[in-house]
Amino acid sequence: DPSLARLAGLVRDVPDYPEPGVLFRDITPVLADGEAFTVVSTELAALAGEADLVVGVEARGFLIGAAVALVAGTGIVPVRKAGKLPRVAASRTYDLEYGSATLEIPADTVPAGARVFLIDDVLATGGTAAAAAALLGDVGAQVTGFGTLVELTALGGRARLAGIPVHTLLRY
Ligand code: 5GP
Repeated sequence: DPSLARLAGLVRDVPDYPEPGVLFRDITPVLADGEAFTVVSTELAALAGEADLVVGVEARGFLIGAAVALVAGTGIVPVRKAGKLPRVAASRTYDLEYGSATLEIPADTVPAGARVFLIDDVLATGGTAAAAAALLGDVGAQVTGFGTLVELTALGGRARLAGIPVHTLLRY
């Protein structure tokens, strides 16, 4: 697919970031390119199915998630790192590829029973996506799909999202 090949050509590999031994895929040049950003947004929105709502994970998931929501015609809810929200509906702590983190979901944003398409920029170990999906379960929502621009397949993130359809545009 030529448009996906163009996206792949904009991803930059950064060795030893944010710590030695990690090969970081920098996707910000993809978002900075108008044609590529349109491809990312429309391709992921086409995979959102019958979702009522898009949820994006801080911080690059906000950028992609908002664009996907606009194309899909849904609202967007930010899942944030701990301490940023004035009113929290649910909180989950989880292990990262490097370190640990807590994610929170804002109060009065996700109706019980909502069908949610979850968005982030990269699927690595799956810890972040699994925590975000658990938060959505805590508030009574149903995660109908998870979409990212990049999947790092060797880290096995898909296995941590059993039962959730996973859609990734570029796989390494
Ligand atoms: P996981 O929890 O799946 O191990 O890591 C995914 C989370 O960490 C995502 O929120 C993503 O933004 C970030 N992340 C991990 N590795 C990379 C990477 O190589 N590139 C980018 N852009 N983000 C990464």
